[in-house]
Amino acid sequence: GMTIGDCFDATVRAHPDRLALVVRSQGVRWTYRELAAVVDRFASGLASLGLVANERVGIWSPNNAEWVVTQFATAKLGLILVTINPAYRPQELEYALRKVGCAALVTATAFKTSDYIGMLRQIAPEIATGIPGRLNLQKLPDLRTIIQIGETTTPGLLSFEGVCRRGSTASPPRVKLRFDDPINIQFTSGTTGAPKGATLTHHNILNNGYFCGQALGFGPDDRLCIPVPFYHCFGMVLSNLTCITHGAAMIVPGEAFDPLGVLEAVQAERCTALHGVPTMFISILEHPTFSSFDLSSLRTGAMAGAPCPVEVMRRVIGEMGMGEITIAYGMTETSPISFQSDRGDPLERRVSTVGRIQPYVEVKVIDEAGDIVPRGTPGELCTRGYSVMRGYWDDPDKTAQAIDAAGWMHTGDLATIDADGYCNITGRIKDLVIRAGENIYPREIEEFLYQHPKVQDVQVFGIPDPKYGEEVCVWIRLKDGQTCDEESIRSFCREAIAHYKIPRFIRFVDAYPMTVSGKVQKFIMREAMVRELA
Ligand code: ATP
Ligand code: MG
Repeated sequence: GMTIGDCFDATVRAHPDRLALVVRSQGVRWTYRELAAVVDRFASGLASLGLVANERVGIWSPNNAEWVVTQFATAKLGLILVTINPAYRPQELEYALRKVGCAALVTATAFKTSDYIGMLRQIAPEIATGIPGRLNLQKLPDLRTIIQIGETTTPGLLSFEGVCRRGSTASPPRVKLRFDDPINIQFTSGTTGAPKGATLTHHNILNNGYFCGQALGFGPDDRLCIPVPFYHCFGMVLSNLTCITHGAAMIVPGEAFDPLGVLEAVQAERCTALHGVPTMFISILEHPTFSSFDLSSLRTGAMAGAPCPVEVMRRVIGEMGMGEITIAYGMTETSPISFQSDRGDPLERRVSTVGRIQPYVEVKVIDEAGDIVPRGTPGELCTRGYSVMRGYWDDPDKTAQAIDAAGWMHTGDLATIDADGYCNITGRIKDLVIRAGENIYPREIEEFLYQHPKVQDVQVFGIPDPKYGEEVCVWIRLKDGQTCDEESIRSFCREAIAHYKIPRFIRFVDAYPMTVSGKVQKFIMREAMVRELA
């Protein structure tokens, strides 16, 4: 077993002069040797602040070079990196920092319209008068140090540059670490409610990043465009660790997803791979300047995080030229991937399933009684193996609900597995609509409505109904400039799907409530509909 630091150093030794990291919004362009030099300076700076293995270091920032540096510097010291959603507001930030007892926080100065320093002052007004490195904050008693990324430095805070300068004279201490030590606390997306903090080890996430790259056929010539947030496993594991484990380059368009930024980055850097959630690929394909870009360098990538409409997969292959794209399924709690199609899988299987189980992971599909169902029958997906998290940080009850005594992670997702082992995710148990005793899979209706020529994006969910138990709702985003009414959607459905699956409530919307990782929060849509109909 290797640690993340060992793996990083091995890649630097093997490919010192290869491109490692480009951050277009910052003008950063570093080889592995250059990246390693900054990582070592920052690591020894952190060590000089008295931070030691197993202490928690939070990072609250959108995507930038400092994020990547922090990821590898903390890994080398055995500091547990706590990745905090850049969309958090003060109360959520305070909750996360307190929950895991962070000793240090690396923070951006601002993101979009959010003033991070202002928000920190709301939680800890006494920061300004504190001693940087030895803060003594009433609400955050464990937090000794705040390190600010950016041009300015706020009184009481250290600058990122300053910490690197402190470390410039000494090489970082060599800390004895084990591959199964926890190294990361990652919060889940918060798609279904409050995010949960999953504790993951070197072994968990390093292997997962490696296997993801293997399914994509990654090597040192690959350049991965990364529009997904670093704070999420899709960024820090499936992007950053996948690149590190295969010596590939990380190409970061900017602080957050923007379709034009992705198109420009892919063309300018001749990216060979692009990751994203389905909604990202949809908005890239729909961008008015899409057809003016040369994307011929693109070969592969992973689409993951939410159900991937077959229609979108076909367009990504046909119009973006990503003939070797794969679909991955996973969750933060399992490092994250457990299923991924292989770039060599037959096209039909690759666009319509999440592939087969990852090496060294076991899977079973069970019914409500916990018994294994026959192949092809839907049930709850459970996985077991190297990838399963240690548990939710400091939350034995939630951990015991998720991981049973035999080590099975109960995913909360519904799936079927066919005779050849290919898996279909049919949705979340929480999202299943049960109308008059009939199970309705929102995914099935969504797939169908995607075929409507005016529909850009569609989300189906259930709301409580006194007569039928639940009723089907759909929120539809139309393509640019299109208009449509409820009746035409209904008649489109009538010709093809059973009457009880036809949405009772149809709404046309401009946007969906979304997590920063790009997932649609159906629970918020459900609450809005319930309020509207009350
Ligand atoms: P929370 O647990 O906080 O409600 P979340 O489950 O969205 O949020 P993540 O760990 O980011 O948090 O996402 C994992 C979930 O995403 C899976 O359990 C599954 O429901 C969904 N998912 C991931 N990949 C796919 C995929 N390829 N197809 C369908 N669903 C997917
Ligand atoms: Mg979840």
